[in-house]
Amino acid sequence: MECRICSGRLRPFADFGRQPVSDAFVAPGDPGPEFFFHLAVGVCADCSMVQLLEEVPREKMFHDGYPYLSSGSAVMREHFAGVAERLLATELTGPDPFVVELGCNDGTMLKTIAEAGVRHLGVEPSGGVGRRAAARGVRVREGFFEAAAAAGILAEDGPADVVYAANTLCHIPYMDSILRGVDTLLRPGGVLVFEDPYLGDIVARASFDQIYDEHFYFFCATSVRAMARRHGFELVDVERLPVHGGEVRYTLARQGARTPGPAVARLLAEEEAARLTEPATLRAFASRVAANRDSLVALLEGLRDEGARVCGYGATAKSATVLNYCGIGPDLVPFICDTTPAKQGRLTPGSHIPVREPGAFADPYPDYALLLAWNHAEEIMAKETAFREAGGTWILYVPEVHLMGA
Ligand SMILES: [Zn+2]
Repeated sequence: MECRICSGRLRPFADFGRQPVSDAFVAPGDPGPEFFFHLAVGVCADCSMVQLLEEVPREKMFHDGYPYLSSGSAVMREHFAGVAERLLATELTGPDPFVVELGCNDGTMLKTIAEAGVRHLGVEPSGGVGRRAAARGVRVREGFFEAAAAAGILAEDGPADVVYAANTLCHIPYMDSILRGVDTLLRPGGVLVFEDPYLGDIVARASFDQIYDEHFYFFCATSVRAMARRHGFELVDVERLPVHGGEVRYTLARQGARTPGPAVARLLAEEEAARLTEPATLRAFASRVAANRDSLVALLEGLRDEGARVCGYGATAKSATVLNYCGIGPDLVPFICDTTPAKQGRLTPGSHIPVREPGAFADPYPDYALLLAWNHAEEIMAKETAFREAGGTWILYVPEVHLMGA
């Protein structure tokens, strides 16, 4: 098996078995045939990039019905408003600046840029969320970004000062075409800024549900720097972010254009000290994950046997890995509440647990709620204080299985 970045040898270290497309919620009654793939992860012996061994065709994941909305969480709305303000203040200060966002989703970040009257373009392959962005005054180009699309954008709009992507680049196996496209599109002093789940946090927290079809790469400073250099870029800045269970924002500039900031050397040293990309570290992570799976299943089976009422909270994309890897079905978690209208009334992919509207959570409150959207735990627990006041207990499984009751 070959690395998608450098063709080096991949060393597999974790296997989650047969998995569905994480956002392919199925209609009840006749679910029809579902698409499954083998979810397993390896690390490149040469460039240290951690990546999936099997790639799901992009059209199966990112299409007109893609349900995830960036604007769905107040914390994320605030986060992206902050990103936009910072880009406006630091990178988009020249005459007539131009910013391109890859995977702009419903325009949560670009909305602020558009309101500031700055030239921008969101590239979005999922038509439904792209139309939401357009309705908010964001200029959207529907389609996948790659080298050819970049040439088209350059011809139409001229070079970009910033190419930005949040929770998008890690979704894209064909990084070679992406970075060639960014190289085409960026003006000489321009930057590529992207933020994605951080391998260091995933390993430290055993947050194995960050591993699902859409997350092809698990970046860290070590592997991103190697990837950047293959394309004439240099990693010039990194910043740890608390969102989505721990992310890093990477800034790439052309080699020689900017001096790397001190945070880069610090994070590289931290990764080296932790032996983050070494197979032994990653195999130990996989063992912790398997132990978490066993204790979560034992807990849920115990609750079922004693007649406790259990439900799931948040039919997230990442919950597909938890439910299918652990073999959790409606016998252990009879339903899951979720705020996304497109998921309600449907069944979770592979595990076939009914998804209900948020009101079902309090009607009446269950004894236990499995918090599948744990990356929004603080926001959710603040919103749902009445659940614990009513005697309810949260079940969490990151970094290990634990309960949070009244
Ligand atoms: Zn490699």
